[in-house]
Amino acid sequence: MIPMPMSGKKPISLYFHIPFCTRKCPYCHFYVIPNNPKHREELLEGLLLEWEQVRGKLEGFEIVSIYFGGGTPTLFGVEPIARLLREIPSTTDCEITIEANPEDVTPALMEGYKKAGINRVSIGVQSLQDDSLQILERTHNSNKAIQAIHDTHQAGITNISIDLMYELPDQTTDSFEKTLSRLETLPITHLSLYNLTIEPHTAFYKRTLKLPSDQDNFAMLNMAVERLEKIGLKRYEISAFARPGCESRHNVGYWTARPFFGLGPSAFSYFNGKRFRNCANINKYYQALKEGKSPVDFEEALPYPQNVQELLAVELRLLRGVNLNRFSLPDETKTVLHQLVKEDYLYLKSDQLDLTEKGLLFYDTIASEII
Ligand code: SF4
Repeated sequence: MIPMPMSGKKPISLYFHIPFCTRKCPYCHFYVIPNNPKHREELLEGLLLEWEQVRGKLEGFEIVSIYFGGGTPTLFGVEPIARLLREIPSTTDCEITIEANPEDVTPALMEGYKKAGINRVSIGVQSLQDDSLQILERTHNSNKAIQAIHDTHQAGITNISIDLMYELPDQTTDSFEKTLSRLETLPITHLSLYNLTIEPHTAFYKRTLKLPSDQDNFAMLNMAVERLEKIGLKRYEISAFARPGCESRHNVGYWTARPFFGLGPSAFSYFNGKRFRNCANINKYYQALKEGKSPVDFEEALPYPQNVQELLAVELRLLRGVNLNRFSLPDETKTVLHQLVKEDYLYLKSDQLDLTEKGLLFYDTIASEII
C-alpha cells in the first residue's frame, strides 16, 4: 500500500508537536498552551535544538513523512514551519502534513505552506452541523469548514484530509446523515472518523451530556462506511478512509511499527524498539534543550511477548490484515487468536489474519484480548 524508499534506506517519520490553541475544547485532553510571542520563540528555538539532537540518529534512514500536529500548528504561522523544513533533508515524495483548524485557513496561509513544502493538510472539520459544532465549542461553523477545504485546494494543496466526529451530545442519525451528505461535493482525499470519548480531566467529563444510544452509534458508523465508500473514500483502517493512493503514509507508520521521532513538548517517539516521551511543559522542554540535555522524561521498552502482542494488535487495525509469519507469538497468544476466530471476530486463512465484519465493530475488545 505504501511504497518503500527507493534509496534502500530504512523508512522513518518525524512528528512536530505545536501545542498552541486559542482556547481549550471541552473534550480535549492534549497538552496545549496559549499562543504568545514568548512561547512561539521558545518553541521554535527548542525544536531547532531538538532537531540537532535527532538528526545525528538518522544515519541509514530516509524520512518518508513529516507531520505538524497539535494543538493548532497553523497558529505558528508559515515562517517557523518553513524554517524547520529548510533544516530537514527530505525527498520529493516525502508526505508533509500540517493540521489546520478551519477558522485559521485563508488562501494566503495555504499558499505560504505550499511554498514552504507542505503537500498535505488535515483539517479539523469535526462536523458539518452547526449545532454539533456549538456543543463542541468549536470556533468555526460548517460554512467556514467547507470554505477552508476549498481555499486549501485552490492554493494548490490537493491532498486534503478532514477529521469528523460522531457519538456527539444531542447528535441523531439524521443530523449525522446531513453532515455525510454535505461531503459529497468536497475535494477531499482522506477522512479520519472519530467517536467522541469523554476523558477524565476534561470539561465534558464533569457535565451531564445526552449522548446517542449504542444502537444509534452503530447506525452512524455503518452509515458513514457506506456513504464514504460511495464517494470513493475506501475504509483502509478502523477509523480512516481514503481515495486509492491517498492513505496517510504517516499514520500507516504508527500502525506498522515504523520508527518515528516526535519533537516538541509532550511528543512521543518510537525508536530502536523503545517508546519515549518529551516533558509536557514548554519551560522545562526549552530549558533542557538550552542546556544541551534531552527533553525526554519517560522511556520504556516493552519486554517479549508484550511487545509483539502490542504490535500485532495495532497492525490489525489495517483492513489489509496481518501476515502472522512476521510475528513470533507465544502459544498463549495463538490460543487467544484461535478463540477469536471461533467466535467470528477474526478470519484466518493460511497465515493471513483479518478482522471480520463483527471484529471491525469490536476492535477494542479484540485488542485487549490480544494484549
Ligand atoms: S483545537 Fe484540538 S488540540 Fe486545541 S483544544 Fe481543541 S481539541 Fe484540543
